[in-house]
Amino acid sequence: MKVFNLGDIVEMKKIHPCGSKNWEIIRLGADIKIKCLGCGRIVMLPRIKFDSGVRKIIKNNALNKESILKKEE
Ligand SMILES: [Zn+2]
Repeated sequence: MKVFNLGDIVEMKKIHPCGSKNWEIIRLGADIKIKCLGCGRIVMLPRIKFDSGVRKIIKNNALNKESILKKEE
């Protein structure tokens, strides 16, 4: 299971109509709020849908980045 942090930039499998695939995580919880970096639109997704929709983390905002990466291996 991936670990996400507020402020992470993630690439989603689905491309937004504005052409951007990159989103910033602005709220974490049972529901995840992400903001499109292309057009600024904010969407809320259930955690499980978000997990399956993320292709990769572009920018990890965690201070302890290395330990998180190790956990993912
Ligand atoms: Zn967009």
